[in-house]
Amino acid sequence: MTWETVIGLETHVELATKTKIFCSCTTEFGGAPNTHCCPVCMGMPGTLPVLNQKVVELAVTAGLALNCAITPHSRFDRKNYFYPDLPKAYQISQLYLPIARNGRVDIGEGKTIRIHELHMEEDAGKLVHDPWLDQTLADYNRCGVPLIEIVTEPDFRCAEEVIAYLEKLKETLQYLGVSDCKMQEGSLRCDVNLSVRPAGSAQLGVRTEMKNLNSFKAISRAIVYEARRQIELLEEGKPVVQQTRRWDENKDATYAMRSKENAQDYRYFPDPDLPPVELSGAYLDRLRAALPELAEAKRVRYQTQWGLPAYDAKMITSQKPLADFFEALVSLGTKPKQGANWIMGQVLGQLSAHGLEAGDMALTPPTLARLIALVEAGKLNRNTAVKVFEAVFETDGDVDAYVAAHGLEQVSDAGLVAEAVEQVLAANEKSVADYKAGKEKAFGFLVGQVMRRLKGQASPAMVNQVLRDRLG
Ligand SMILES: [Zn+2]
Repeated sequence: MTWETVIGLETHVELATKTKIFCSCTTEFGGAPNTHCCPVCMGMPGTLPVLNQKVVELAVTAGLALNCAITPHSRFDRKNYFYPDLPKAYQISQLYLPIARNGRVDIGEGKTIRIHELHMEEDAGKLVHDPWLDQTLADYNRCGVPLIEIVTEPDFRCAEEVIAYLEKLKETLQYLGVSDCKMQEGSLRCDVNLSVRPAGSAQLGVRTEMKNLNSFKAISRAIVYEARRQIELLEEGKPVVQQTRRWDENKDATYAMRSKENAQDYRYFPDPDLPPVELSGAYLDRLRAALPELAEAKRVRYQTQWGLPAYDAKMITSQKPLADFFEALVSLGTKPKQGANWIMGQVLGQLSAHGLEAGDMALTPPTLARLIALVEAGKLNRNTAVKVFEAVFETDGDVDAYVAAHGLEQVSDAGLVAEAVEQVLAANEKSVADYKAGKEKAFGFLVGQVMRRLKGQASPAMVNQVLRDRLG
């Protein structure tokens, strides 16, 4: 029998607010345990939550970009359960009236993934097991960090589609400034719901849920493993049990955590401490108008408006800070293709050499624009410019000061070049004779000698010209 895999995703995304969803504690990642907390986010009795407006703004922005219908009147509910990382014993979330519903994401090749809903909620804390003490410690820094949860319909049929969707989602949310989406810091994590059924069947099979997968590699491998496990069970005539399973990266396998709970188990009810969220038409219009240009639109524009090759446009828009940097360069007068070459070559090269993210780079567009302008004006040759670039990269140093201090300005004085040519010709009679006998290689050698004499700072074009003229 041929089997079909059916997958739905629940993606949790930490929002890029400065403060938490219901208090003014910082959302900064890390920090000593329990130092980013207050009575509200530690769930002390008698405290009251106050909704952070920025959370609503980011959730609505994400909803709009994912083509959702925004709920003008939404509400928060309490999801009740006890766990040591949740000191209130309930999580404030949205069940009955989520802020956005019915969206869609195109993932290429004609495939569309439908978004069932997008809702706001608070994150829980973290439990850290200390193997030396053989104790589990609670860190509440993450309690109350704002999240959106994006729930898709079961529209995926393979791991590749899931990864294409997540890449698109990540790119979109980063461009919107909704989240940094750093998977290694847990800013974007996925629950995968998976079932299998005979190909062609309209009925869904029994599904399992794999929780908190936080790398594309883990997601891909968990999907492949779990689909195979379910197919093997069914082929042996055994049932698939609805349950939550954990992916064990080291063992390359999933194992059962607990039988699947239903919404009823959480005794959801409207949170009496928080008023409903009412959004006016004017507010929604304002956020819709403020949606930034996304990566896909930029890729098209870079090719049509600035004539970049498709490859360059894709590379530069792959990270929003690079695209911002590129556009700033162009606005400072750099020719688009030249700016693109420097970004794809030197900028990416130095970022990787220093182990830096594009967003953390000290180098500013005016510095690189100045360097490129010096090359254009014939004041620096390309090789020297690369050396200057490497020298100023880490500190965004002053290009002109560096060039002056190191005497790097290109020798464009024809008299100086002619003088060096004469000296080289006099000292290399054999090469001159070889060249005149038709050995072109000798010419390259002579150019190299002249460049050396001029400390590599001459314009190669000018040296070539003077030598050709002199040798007839
Ligand atoms: Zn707090």
